[in-house]
Amino acid sequence: MRKFNHIGEVIFSDDFESGSIGDVVKIANNKWDFYLADDNGDVSLPDEYRSWWYLKVDNAPTNEPVTFTIKNRGWPFYYVPVYSYDNVRWFRFNESEVYQNTNKEIVVTTTFSQSQVWIARFYPYTFSDLERFISDIERYVFFTEVEVSGYSQRQKPIYLIKLTHPHSPPENKKKVFIHARTHPAETPGSYVVEGLVKRLLNNSPESALILSKHEFYIYPMHNVDGVIAGNYRTTPKSENLEVQWKYDPLDPLNLIDGLPLEVNVIHEYARNLMTDGGPKVSMALNLHGSNSEPDTRPFFFPHFGTRAQGYSEVESNLWHKQLFFIDQMAKYYGKDMLEPTPDEGGSGFVNGGYPEAWWWANFKDSVMAMTMEVTYDRAGYAPDRITQDNMRLIGESLVSAIRDYHEFTAENSLASYRSKIKGTVTELEYPELYPPEAQDELKK
Ligand SMILES: [Zn+2]
Repeated sequence: MRKFNHIGEVIFSDDFESGSIGDVVKIANNKWDFYLADDNGDVSLPDEYRSWWYLKVDNAPTNEPVTFTIKNRGWPFYYVPVYSYDNVRWFRFNESEVYQNTNKEIVVTTTFSQSQVWIARFYPYTFSDLERFISDIERYVFFTEVEVSGYSQRQKPIYLIKLTHPHSPPENKKKVFIHARTHPAETPGSYVVEGLVKRLLNNSPESALILSKHEFYIYPMHNVDGVIAGNYRTTPKSENLEVQWKYDPLDPLNLIDGLPLEVNVIHEYARNLMTDGGPKVSMALNLHGSNSEPDTRPFFFPHFGTRAQGYSEVESNLWHKQLFFIDQMAKYYGKDMLEPTPDEGGSGFVNGGYPEAWWWANFKDSVMAMTMEVTYDRAGYAPDRITQDNMRLIGESLVSAIRDYHEFTAENSLASYRSKIKGTVTELEYPELYPPEAQDELKK
C-alpha cells in the first residue's frame, strides 16, 4: 500500500482495506493518470489480472472539473466507475462523464462537491463490511450459526454461515454449499450472499419452510487476505485459489499436499459434509463477478451437454440439472436478465483444478455444482446500471430457485418437468451470444 503526496495539492491514497492503485501521475492542472496495480505488485501476473482499483482523494478540487484516466487496464470493455463521499454510500458517475478513448482507457471528467472522495472500479465490499453483516445476522440465533471455519495465511478468520430450521429433522433436508470471493475484487458475490441470507431470515412463514427443508453452508469470503490487500484475483502470494482444488487422482476425495490454507479450509468442510454419514450436499454454488461488455447479463458455467452431443448418461444428467436450475433462476430473477445458456458446456473444466472438478470427480451428477458470474455494468438494467440492491435481489432469487430445484428434482423427474414447461414463460428467449465465446473472464 502506498500513499502519493503531491505536496500542497491533492492527496491520493490506497492504504486502507481493499484499496488499490499502482501510481498516480499529474499530467496537467486538475488532470491525473491512474495506473492500475498488479496484485501484490507482481508484474509476472497476466494483464487480465489488472482490473480492480479503489482509492481515496483528499483535498480534491470542488466545483471545478477534474479529469482522471484509468491506464494499463487488463480489460478492454467500457464501464462507469463509482464514487462515495463517506466510503459508505456509493454512486455511479453519470455516463456522460465517462468515455473510453482509443487506447481503451476509461476517462472520467467530473465535478466533485466535497473535497474528500473515494472512487473505485465497482462497489467495494470489504472484510469489515462482512463482519458488520455477520454481527447483524447473528441476532437471528434461532436459524443462524456463524463459525470461524479456519484461518487464512495471514491468520484472518474464514467465516462459515450456517442457516437452517433447527427443529426440522436433518434427514428431511437438502444441503446447499455456497462460496464467494475466491477472486477478491469480485464483490458481487458478497451482495448476492447478503440478499440470499436476508431473504432466508426475513421472518416469513415461507422462509421458515425453506429453512425447514434445507441446510445452507455459506463461505461468504474465501480469499479474505486478498480482499484486505486490495487484490483482484489472488492471495498475497499471488495464488489464484479458483484453480487450486487439485485432488489426488488415486484418492480424489482428498487434495494433494501443499495447497493454500484457504482451499484446504473449505475443501475439508465440504468433504466432511459428504462423508459424515448424514444427508449429502446436493448443490454447490461458486459465486463470481465477470469483466464483460457493458450489456452482458449475469450468467452461469454449466458443464457437459446432451446425450445427442456425445456425452455419457451421467454427464448429460448433470447438464440437464444445471440447465434446470438456470431455468428456475430465470423464472424468478427475470428471463431477460440472464445470458442465454450455451448449446454445450464442454468438459474442459474437469482437469482445471476448479471446485466443480472436485465435486464432479467424487460425486458426479449427485451434486449440481456450478459457477455463477454476476456482471458489473448495465448487466440487463440498461439504460441504468446494476446496483448493490439489484445484486441482493439476485441472492433473493437464488433462494426461490434453490427451493424449486429441490422440490421438482425430489418429486418429479427433470424430463417430466421440462415437458411441462415447454412453451411456457420459463422458456429462455435470449440472444445467441454467450459470454464464454466472447473475450470475457474464462475462469482461469
Ligand atoms: Zn472469478
